[in-house]
Amino acid sequence: MMRIASKGHGVEGAGHGPAQPDEALSVESLSAESWLVSAGRERHAGAPLNVPIMPASNFVLGKGRGRVYARNEGVPGWEALEEILGGLEGGEAVAFASGMAAIAAIFDQVPEHALLALPADCYQGVLSLAEAGQSRRGWRIERIGVTDTAGWVRACGVADLIWLESPSNPLLEVADLDTICAAPRKAGAILGVDNTFATPLNQRPLELGADVSVHSATKFIGGHSDLLCGVAIARDVSLCADLRRVRVLAGATPGALEAFLATRGVRTLALRLERAQRNAEELAERLERHARVSCVRYPGLKSHPTHAAAKRQLKGFGTVISFDVKGEASDADAVCRRLKLIQHATSLGAVESTIERRALHHGQEHLPETLLRLSVGIEAVEDLWTDLEQALGEG
Ligand SMILES: *Cc1c(COP(=O)(O)O)cnc(C)c1O
Repeated sequence: MMRIASKGHGVEGAGHGPAQPDEALSVESLSAESWLVSAGRERHAGAPLNVPIMPASNFVLGKGRGRVYARNEGVPGWEALEEILGGLEGGEAVAFASGMAAIAAIFDQVPEHALLALPADCYQGVLSLAEAGQSRRGWRIERIGVTDTAGWVRACGVADLIWLESPSNPLLEVADLDTICAAPRKAGAILGVDNTFATPLNQRPLELGADVSVHSATKFIGGHSDLLCGVAIARDVSLCADLRRVRVLAGATPGALEAFLATRGVRTLALRLERAQRNAEELAERLERHARVSCVRYPGLKSHPTHAAAKRQLKGFGTVISFDVKGEASDADAVCRRLKLIQHATSLGAVESTIERRALHHGQEHLPETLLRLSVGIEAVEDLWTDLEQALGEG
């Protein structure tokens, strides 16, 4: 049974220590929404309700196994965040300075001359990381389409790292994780799922059989476009220890302020997601009927190629919509410029809606050049629609 208390990483007597065990509170006895709000808190008389920001690099030495140095043993903020997310996804969480830091720690486990199976529609930073390993460590890379389930199943038997992103970015295709995670894997292989787009509320990869789940906590978990943070979650104790070791050696540790902000952000994840998702569902349907829009990709739409998989696998369809503006790249750019409420900015998963033309990014040239990726926020849906209508103009 997963307690609300931290499972402990050998750090004791640090003053603001990990939360006290509370037999009444466990992730199994609470809904996810309540767990997000209540986990990772100290529960003894006089304790602050929130884990304080502790800007400390080093700690007074004494008897026992207290904290020594923040890069090694962490500050209390990380433990609260790790407890919340680990509990929710059913594993041990390891917090990092960014999503890429978490992913790099996982890729660091991959031996020389290994075979890596990556999605065809792969996050650019991950692709660059793998390509660096190609020249430095002799890695071989195989790219597989998100919906090519047979290709992934075959890769599970031969690859050393199987890396999935589902829903994918920015086409929002949903991989058949049920089937892929259940396929027999090569001994020692790691199957990782980038769960950033789904959030821990919509999808729990470890429950499906993945070895590790990662989040760019910069996105939905923080939720306010004001921090960089990442987290990897795994069940295997030795994999978790290896990830912590890389975190220490690479100095890829989140700052005290970032840990605080991510923890504060995740408290409201359920509310934010519920609202933004409802907005996204409504806007996707309206965009699909708009005369100046030619193709809307949203897993919740019946027209989406992986709608069936999304319905089966995800609790909600997410907050990101990709759509093509009729015309040329300059027409899509003009839409971004004319928007007033919706910000012309990259990234996703925040309270405010943002939009960008993805083909502008390096490595995204394969996308339709008029494709806009809209990350829907928590504003009033009618205000968002009014803004989109005025920016799209007449058909
Ligand atoms: C943003 C993002 C990352 C990288 O996360 P950072 O926090 O920016 O390092 C990785 N995967 C996905 C799907 C992302 O959206």
